[in-house]
Amino acid sequence: MSPEQRAHFKAIIEVQVAELSEEIETIKAAIYPNKGGGTSDKVAHISFKQEQNVHFQRHAEATKRLNRLKQAYLKVDTAEYGVCQECEEAIPLARLELMPESLYCVACMNEMGR
Ligand SMILES: [Zn+2]
Repeated sequence: MSPEQRAHFKAIIEVQVAELSEEIETIKAAIYPNKGGGTSDKVAHISFKQEQNVHFQRHAEATKRLNRLKQAYLKVDTAEYGVCQECEEAIPLARLELMPESLYCVACMNEMGR
């Protein structure tokens, strides 16, 4: 991978980290809405709890991805970046464009069942 390509992916990761951080803040705000409009309605309370669970899951997913992006950011200037950790083949650039935090090529990812 050329230095220009590394700089390119570094920029992509920076943007995604910023976007994801913002998204996480939005999800947090949804999990912990401002108190005051409190309701004693049981049904509303249950649906709020269900919604909260969905937000918790989204929050967990987003946090995991943010961590992977931060790891990738630290590695983008090393020879390790863009190389499949399983088969050591270069990960296609088109895949890195979509998922700059990729550690595996598509074939290895599929083989690992995800
Ligand atoms: Zn591979």
